Amino acid sequence: MDDHSPRLQLRSLARRLYRRGWMEGTAGNLSMRTAEGLFITASGCPKGSLSLEDILCIPVLEAPFSIGPDDRRPSAETSIHRVLYHIFPETGAVLHVHTVEASLVSDTADPALSLPPLEVLKGLGIADPETRPLLPVFDNDRLVSDIAKKITARLPDPRFPLPALLIRRHGTTVWGRTIAEAVRHLELMEFCLRFLVRKNSLNRDEDMR
Ligand SMILES: [Zn+2]
Repeated sequence: MDDHSPRLQLRSLARRLYRRGWMEGTAGNLSMRTAEGLFITASGCPKGSLSLEDILCIPVLEAPFSIGPDDRRPSAETSIHRVLYHIFPETGAVLHVHTVEASLVSDTADPALSLPPLEVLKGLGIADPETRPLLPVFDNDRLVSDIAKKITARLPDPRFPLPALLIRRHGTTVWGRTIAEAVRHLELMEFCLRFLVRKNSLNRDEDMR
């Protein structure tokens, strides 16, 4: 297996994101679309110590899939990955993580979060950060397929120009044409969310003085 194989790339990325505290326990899921199919992390596997067998290859768009070796199943959030590949056909990778910042900033934002005019937004495709782009926020739901349906109903929308969305009190999802691009989008998106959390906390401290 060469270093560029989807399984090796996804395993190594999961370790990196686990070390950052973005995929604690079994949280989060990562996928890559290839000519062979959709490579996606299996459900319930600790992201800091995935084996190559914990990354399954399933059809990209069709609903049915066979259970992998040892009863491994694709991520419980596979339907969200699939709708994003369907809605944005140029997408080659989708990354979903559970961060404290995403949970905090999505708590009250409804139906979208207005992002601060930060330079890093240029790396997310926003030519002029002063336009304060909106990031859509979706309610969390026990039924993941219902979250996927809501995403299909609201995206694409020119009011939401970022390759990212939030699920309330749950996490961040980003996508990109390649896995490298999706990783950049994730890092920049999380930078914006960290900025917002710190800014809100500074504002609160000011108010208390
Ligand atoms: Zn999740």
